Amino acid sequence: GLEAELMKSFMESGLYRLDQSDVVFIDPVRLLNDSYSRFRLSPSAYYSRHFPPSSTPNEKRNRKRKRNKPRHAPLNLNERELCAEERHQQVRPLLLNAHRKLLEASQLLRILPRIVESEAALECRERVVEQNFVELGSSWRAPFCEIALKNPQGLRSGLSEGRKLVPLFDNIISVESDDDIEAEFQNAIYVLPPKSLFLMSDLRQVRKLIAGDSAEGFNLIVIDPPWENGSARQKAMYPTLPNRQFMYLPVKELAHSDGSLVALWITNRQKLQDFVVKDLLPAWGISHATPFYWLKVKPDGSLIGDLDLFHHRPYELLLLGYVNVDFNSECMKTIKHLKESRVIISVPGAYSRKPPLGKLLEEYIPGQRPSRCIELFARELVAGWTSWGNEPLHFQDATYYLGK
Ligand code: SAM
Repeated sequence: GLEAELMKSFMESGLYRLDQSDVVFIDPVRLLNDSYSRFRLSPSAYYSRHFPPSSTPNEKRNRKRKRNKPRHAPLNLNERELCAEERHQQVRPLLLNAHRKLLEASQLLRILPRIVESEAALECRERVVEQNFVELGSSWRAPFCEIALKNPQGLRSGLSEGRKLVPLFDNIISVESDDDIEAEFQNAIYVLPPKSLFLMSDLRQVRKLIAGDSAEGFNLIVIDPPWENGSARQKAMYPTLPNRQFMYLPVKELAHSDGSLVALWITNRQKLQDFVVKDLLPAWGISHATPFYWLKVKPDGSLIGDLDLFHHRPYELLLLGYVNVDFNSECMKTIKHLKESRVIISVPGAYSRKPPLGKLLEEYIPGQRPSRCIELFARELVAGWTSWGNEPLHFQDATYYLGK
C-alpha cells in the first residue's frame, strides 16, 4: 500500500514524508551520500552517539524519587524563563503531532534500528584520531601547511598518480572533477565531494567568498554559529564567539541578487532567541522569519529526552528567512513561500552535528537551478556547495567513509 511506497522511496532518497509535507523523517546518511560516487558514509560512524535504552516506567519512578532538582518547569520562573516556557507550550502540540506521525509509521520504525546500527559505532569510532584543524589553523605553522589533492582533475591514469599541493589554510580550494577525490594531509586521507569548494579560515577571511558580482552570490545560506553556552562539553569541542560578533557576518553581501534563503540554527536559550529576533535578523536584513523544528529521536523512535524537560529539550530551532528578495519578481512566483512551521525528525549523529538541509529546503530557495549554496561554520563538505569554517574537513576524514 501507501506505506510500502513511502518506504521504498525512503530507502532510496533518505526522506520520508510523514504528514503530506509538513513533517519529514530523514536519514542524514542517505541524504549525504548523494554527494559521493566512489565513497559512501559509514552509517555506524555517522550514528556514533550511544543512546541508553528508554527506561521502564518502574525505573523512571525510582529515579524521580531520588532527584531533588525539578526537571520540568520550576515553579519560581523569572521573566525570561516564563517566555521560554510559553514558547515551548506553543510548539508542543506541533511536536507531539509530528512524533505521533512517526510512531504510526510502523514499517519505518521497524527498520530504523537496523539503519542506525549503533552497536558497531563504538568500535569504529575508537580508532579515529582526529586532526585538530582549529588549533593548527591558529598556530604559527598554519601558513606552511599544504594538502595534497590526488587526481585533482579526476584522471585515473593508472601509472603516475596525479597530485597537486595547495595551501590548506586561508585558501579557497575547489574540487573540479565530477567524482569524489581524495586528499592527503599529515598521513590522513580526506574525501572531497565533486564540485565542492571550501575555505578553512577564521572569521576575518570569510569576505574572500563574497562574489565580485552579486549575480554570482548564493541562493541558500546555512549558518550554524558557535553560540556561547554553559556546556563544558561544548567548550572542549570547539571555540565559541560572543553574540555580537555574528552581527558582522556578511550575510547580505554573500546573497545572490535574485535573493537568498537563510537558514539559521539556534539553541533553546531564551536570551539567545531574544538577541536573534531583536538584533541579529535586523542587522542581516532578514524578512519572513519562520521557525522550523528539528526533533531528535533514538533508534527506537522515542524522543532522546522528555519533551518537557526544562533545560534539555529534545528539539532545536531552525530559523528560516529571506534576504535580498523581491516578492514581485518572476522567480519568487515559482517557489514555495515560507509560512507554516515544519518539523524535521532524525536520529542525531555526533555532538552538535546538524542534519543536511539542501534537499529539505529546495522548494523554498529563490533563483536559478541548481541553486548556489553555502554553509557558514561548516564541519563538512557537500557536492556543489561552498563550505566555510575553521574545520570544514572535520567530517571528511576517510575513516568516516566506506569504499563503494
Ligand atoms: N553545523 C556543523 C555541523 O553540523 O557539524 C556544526 C557547527 S559548530 C556549531 C560551529 C563551528 O564553528 C565549529 O566547527 C567551530 O570550530 C567553528 N568556529 C568557531 N569559531 C570560529 C571562527 N572564529 N572562525 C571560523 N569558525 C569558527
